[in-house]
Amino acid sequence: KRLAAGERRATADLIASLMELDSRKLYLGEGCSSLFTYCTQVLRLSEHAAYGRIAAARAARRFPIILPLLADGSLNLTTVCLLAPHLTSDNHRELLTAATHKSKREVEHLVATISPQPDPPTSVRRLPTPKIAQRVPSIEPPQSRLEPPAPAMCRPATPEPAIVAPLAPERYKVQFTVSRETYGKLRRAQELLRHTVPNGDPGAIFDRALTVLLAEVEKQKCGATARPRGARPAASSSRRIPAAVKREVWARDGGRCAFVGVNGRCTERGFLEYHHVQPFADGGLSVAENLQLRCRAHNAYEAGQWFGPLFVREVPAAWLTRTGSGPSSEVAARAFSATMPSG
Ligand SMILES: [Zn+2]
Repeated sequence: KRLAAGERRATADLIASLMELDSRKLYLGEGCSSLFTYCTQVLRLSEHAAYGRIAAARAARRFPIILPLLADGSLNLTTVCLLAPHLTSDNHRELLTAATHKSKREVEHLVATISPQPDPPTSVRRLPTPKIAQRVPSIEPPQSRLEPPAPAMCRPATPEPAIVAPLAPERYKVQFTVSRETYGKLRRAQELLRHTVPNGDPGAIFDRALTVLLAEVEKQKCGATARPRGARPAASSSRRIPAAVKREVWARDGGRCAFVGVNGRCTERGFLEYHHVQPFADGGLSVAENLQLRCRAHNAYEAGQWFGPLFVREVPAAWLTRTGSGPSSEVAARAFSATMPSG
């Protein structure tokens, strides 16, 4: 009992520190693009633990009464995470009291009462069952898979056969099994395409991949060649960065944010921008030597360092977009993009 109380107090203390780190964005100087990255890579919290503590820290920033309730065990992290999106200045005391010492299921019930979800759309019921699906043989026989299964995933002994099923006019359900390598490529494509496919929809990425593949195959079949263009003179005095320079910088920086903080180099590979080490507005040239890749958070951070904090608007706080990219944070990121000066 005493140990559990000690653990609760330690967690509450950690959450209080995260509130401070978050409000002052201290993680940026540490070389992390978000508080989530800081929690997982520097504090070595699991993704789940980091998510819960950050959600609690942000809720406690709005409603400081949460911290003592966490410390004395009236509320646990799961409860706070479930309630946080629904707390308002009007209802928070009432809701927090109602949720005290309640189980997860009871808190979910409470949330459903205050924020009822609409019924699932009826169109789901009209979907054909898999029985009428047209089965396509899997490309790879099971015995040729040499890779060990991914540790976190429980794979079936034999891969599911691919399914291509018409769901509705113009809509198809395509389901197939891929190797870990292919899955890695998908995740990489999702990161690189965040600007244009914010929710990382595999269907949209599949479409783009096929478009490129078809162009490539058609080119081979038809022998069509794009007329190679001679290297144009580098417009180093312009803000526009020539494509050749972009390629060089991207390859040199390995497609990853090159900001180096107290805890080493940033690991962010999504939302990358070309950063002028000496700002363009300050006479910096658009040449490879003066350009580095930056994630959006660090590009803004350094612009703030150079020109003063008033120059840069707030970086969206809800950057919890590593695995479960919520739509709200994506919207915040895009809204931020619109206000962000490039460079
Ligand atoms: Zn970064």
